[in-house]
Amino acid sequence: MKLSKIIFSLFSFFAAQSAIAQKDPLSTEVWAPEPKIISPGKNAGEPPADAIILFNGSNASAWKHNNGDEAKWIVSDNIMTVKPGSSSIITKQKFGDCQLHIEWRTPAEVKGTGQERGNSGIYLMGRYEVQVLDSYNNSTYRNGQAGSIYKQHIPLVNVCRPPGEWQSYDIIFTAPRFSENGRVIEPARFTVLQNGVLIQNNVTVWGTTDHIGSPVYTKHETKESLLLQDHGNPVSYRNIWIREL
Ligand code: MG
Repeated sequence: MKLSKIIFSLFSFFAAQSAIAQKDPLSTEVWAPEPKIISPGKNAGEPPADAIILFNGSNASAWKHNNGDEAKWIVSDNIMTVKPGSSSIITKQKFGDCQLHIEWRTPAEVKGTGQERGNSGIYLMGRYEVQVLDSYNNSTYRNGQAGSIYKQHIPLVNVCRPPGEWQSYDIIFTAPRFSENGRVIEPARFTVLQNGVLIQNNVTVWGTTDHIGSPVYTKHETKESLLLQDHGNPVSYRNIWIREL
């Protein structure tokens, strides 16, 4: 047989196979790897079986201050509350890509205005803040209200409950990737739901969420501590759990 004829025969054969595959539902079924089976929480907001519990009400032992001291925030009635002036707290364990569930409450007694009312914050990797603020009838710059990626992304909606009521964030965070020499290969990303409603949809983080100046990236480890901010207001937290992705 001539070479050209062989090639033509092979081509016809594979074309025929491919045409068969297009009509065969089995050819597009993927059976491996099988996703790991985990038990969900009984109700919305409860940790699934593979979650790491960061605060379940009993103690703040998963947390410390930056100087290494045990967390001095106030734990009572299954709630952890900022002790103003004690400084922010960070997790002893470090995390990269993750899913975080956290519930928070700004003080029922309304004090201050703008950024001075019920301010705290959840800093992924200790650097990238999802703002916690009493943004119920409290005007401030929009990229600094509750649910903002601080000074970078305004939340899609304001779905805040009144002060004194519990609210939740479900945060999906993708850590930034850096090259050996510190260049950003892939920036960080956030998806955030507040009280079950999407407020940040896979937004790109431009760098650390600084109070002053444009955000810039500085290379850091692939896993870093989660930080809760002491901004001088007695904001409370409960039911904090995280899943590494
Ligand atoms: Mg804050």
